Amino acid sequence: MSQSSGSPTAPTLVVTGGPFDGQALTLAEGAAAQVLGSGPEAQLRLELGNIDAVHARVVWDKRGVLISDAGSSTGTYVNGEKIGSDRALQNGDRVFLGPPGSKQSAKLLAMVPATVVASEEPLVLASEADAVVLDSSLSAGAMLPSALTVWTAGFGVPELAARSGLSTDPLGRLLTDETLTSVDDPRIVAAGDASAPSGQPLRMSCQAAGPLGVQAANTVLSRIAGTKPAPLSQAFVGQCISLGRSYGTLQLSRTDDTPVNAVLGGRVTASIKEAICKATVWSIRREAAKPGSYFWLKGGKRPEELASDAVAVP
Ligand SMILES: Cc1cc2nc3c(=O)[nH]c(=O)nc-3n(C[C@H](O)[C@H](O)[C@H](O)COP(=O)(O)OP(=O)(O)OC[C@H]3O[C@@H](n4cnc5c(N)ncnc54)[C@H](O)[C@@H]3O)c2cc1C
Repeated sequence: MSQSSGSPTAPTLVVTGGPFDGQALTLAEGAAAQVLGSGPEAQLRLELGNIDAVHARVVWDKRGVLISDAGSSTGTYVNGEKIGSDRALQNGDRVFLGPPGSKQSAKLLAMVPATVVASEEPLVLASEADAVVLDSSLSAGAMLPSALTVWTAGFGVPELAARSGLSTDPLGRLLTDETLTSVDDPRIVAAGDASAPSGQPLRMSCQAAGPLGVQAANTVLSRIAGTKPAPLSQAFVGQCISLGRSYGTLQLSRTDDTPVNAVLGGRVTASIKEAICKATVWSIRREAAKPGSYFWLKGGKRPEELASDAVAVP
């Protein structure tokens, strides 16, 4: 239990009003459900007439922040609505332990940072001027405050590898060693978004997919030639976001893809992005005309743990 101060960085329930005004419960992601009640088991203990010893439970996991009534005699309410189990809490929700309005009930404010959202899909049904409307079985119709909402496409991986029975990571990317060779079959290599070398995939990007494609081809050529394939080597330079054809943002990064404190913006970045797009097509054409000419930035240390985690290929 902790006192609230300002905007919390983790989901927090704060008692508002009554003898326990200001008492708060801050959640830890992935931790066991916390008990709200009047008994000794409660992590947030509120000794009021309407509150059972174990009245409600609240948990923060990948589904979001969820509150469940624990079979209490007087009920748990969110924004005036009596709830059962696994009700998703949004920032600003009002929780009552016991009937709303009674002095023997506790009123709590849910403070849920904007960074905490349920991972359940589909997530957003519509966007309003200052909020998005959620659409999921846990939080249908709930509003999530949003000062700026950017609609964008997501990246995914085809089911091919997973359906084939080969080893994949949870997203369905083929698990390979550092030569991009499947951990199950040395005749199979993977590249780009669909590969998970040593279970530590590079960021899904054209920036990585091009070089990974070339390196996968080199692995095949090495196997045909009976030589030892080279481990992958890939340096990143940054992350671009285009805003139309005239504006863009470029977050510069270290070679291992971690960001540095330098960002370019505006028309200059749009020109850089345009040049990158042209160069990508140009380099593929040149490789076709002159095999072996493809250039990519090498280095970009792979995570140190790779050495110990690397999976041996037969
Ligand atoms: C909107 C958007 C913007 C992006 N902007 C950038 C950017 O600015 N910079 C950047 O670096 N990256 C960007 N990316 C990411 C980049 O496009 C991808 O990471 C990259 O294209 C991955 O290349 P890939 O060859 O691994 O896969 P893909 O380019 O997805 O190619 C896979 C191909 O395999 C085909 N395929 C799938 N299943 C089968 C099957 N069973 N049989 C036969 N063919 C199959 C698919 O149709 C597809 O053509 C963006 C992606 C999107 C969606």
